[in-house]
Amino acid sequence: MRSIILIAPPAAGKGTQSDMLVGKYGFAHISTGDMLREVAKHDESIKSKLENGELISDDIVFSLLRDRLKSTDCKKGFILDGFPRNVNQAIKYDEMIKDLDVTSNVVIFLDVDKELACKRIVGRISCPDCKRVYNDMIPESMPKVSGKCDDCGGILVKRSDDNSETFGKRYDVYYENTAPLINYYEEKGILYKLDSGMSKDVVFSKIEDILANLND
Ligand code: AMP
Repeated sequence: MRSIILIAPPAAGKGTQSDMLVGKYGFAHISTGDMLREVAKHDESIKSKLENGELISDDIVFSLLRDRLKSTDCKKGFILDGFPRNVNQAIKYDEMIKDLDVTSNVVIFLDVDKELACKRIVGRISCPDCKRVYNDMIPESMPKVSGKCDDCGGILVKRSDDNSETFGKRYDVYYENTAPLINYYEEKGILYKLDSGMSKDVVFSKIEDILANLND
């Protein structure tokens, strides 16, 4: 079972690359943000933290993740999108996977500059049914029919935290907590850095190269 961690500032294309990886390799896509947005539907305190761009406690995040990794769709491998968010979560995660049948553990860092990331986030829309992500400001990422999912016909929605104000907060939280993860994984020798300002297909082919060279 392959563990693929995608690390990136908000709107670097984690969701898009995850969809492409699921399609090609049959991995499970695990987005802690998506799981938490589900919980927020019936939990006011989590809902307000998400709206303010604050991180949710490790207890809640790990309990959701532990349950999710037991699912059979994780057997081939899984992509972690939005997790770990800081070095403390990374250390706890390394402990946790000792008990799992993880054959390779790889970390892909998708880097993108702030201006492009802001443009991506303000235009981001997604399908609530199949979770596919689009962007109505970037031509290559627009749906074929405005407001409708190409795959399942779902009505596309905008996340309430995808505005330039919350974006600034989330980008700052990213730098404060997540950037040290890059050093952590670099020192472990399992980090691959990619420039996510390139087109999604170019980024994806670079990820394919990384996976093709793993020894498992
Ligand atoms: P995302 O969809 O990854 O951008 O996450 C949206 C929001 O969910 C974040 O701004 C945090 O409030 C929360 N969140 C997602 N993943 C985590 C995590 N690993 N630890 C703590 N909070 C998280």
